[in-house]
Amino acid sequence: MSKKSPHFGKLPALYNFFLNPYSDDRFPICPRCQGKTEDKKVPLVIHVDPAHPVSLNYTCAYCARCDLLIAHQDEIESYLTQMFLKLDPKSIGQDYMVMGTFDYAYWEQGLKSPNDAGDLLNNLHGFKKYLNFNRGDEAPKIPAMFKKKADKTQELISMMQTHLPIAVRVAPEWLPSFRNQGMPISAKQSIYIHAVFDGGEEMGIACDVTSSSNKKKALVVSLTFLEVIGDTPLAKAMRHYQKERKSKLGR
Ligand SMILES: [Zn+2]
Repeated sequence: MSKKSPHFGKLPALYNFFLNPYSDDRFPICPRCQGKTEDKKVPLVIHVDPAHPVSLNYTCAYCARCDLLIAHQDEIESYLTQMFLKLDPKSIGQDYMVMGTFDYAYWEQGLKSPNDAGDLLNNLHGFKKYLNFNRGDEAPKIPAMFKKKADKTQELISMMQTHLPIAVRVAPEWLPSFRNQGMPISAKQSIYIHAVFDGGEEMGIACDVTSSSNKKKALVVSLTFLEVIGDTPLAKAMRHYQKERKSKLGR
């Protein structure tokens, strides 16, 4: 009982731990002994890359016979997403690791005044063991709301790639710069996106709109410069992206 965790923490190890990847099973029945589990609320300590320790007072499923604590991945990730939307949106989608539980008194004191991050390991009960229970029927579904936010751009890019070429117009304020780049077009004229790729933080979603009548002059622009046509789900997703990116850049 007084043994330290082989993983983290200076306090005696508590619990075997299972991060449940199945969003359709809350494990009212223990996957190890088939007995009934109970609810157990504990201050979970989660390390989020690169350097965010967070604690979460979270109700796990618990089997006393197996000393098995079960946290549900989709719930944990949803909490992390909510937390990091305020704290540090860049960290949404980063890898994370449930390290153990805090000593309850230490956790309560942290609610009143922030704990010193350097003290974390001194007040952490690491887990005895990390366990995995595979149902074997299918690959675990990863609802992963936590990951989805960061991959939203990638999702839109893939969606656009299956619909190429995509007709768009040039937003009126950008017509002069298109003219300067050898593409004298009017606000009513459609142009086509022939290829789309991730242009990184700076450019966002990059669209190749090289004119088919002037292939020598390649023209790649950010999706934010283009006016989306139509009302399809794709068009809506592209507009939504533009709106989000504009408000992000405006900040
Ligand atoms: Zn059990």
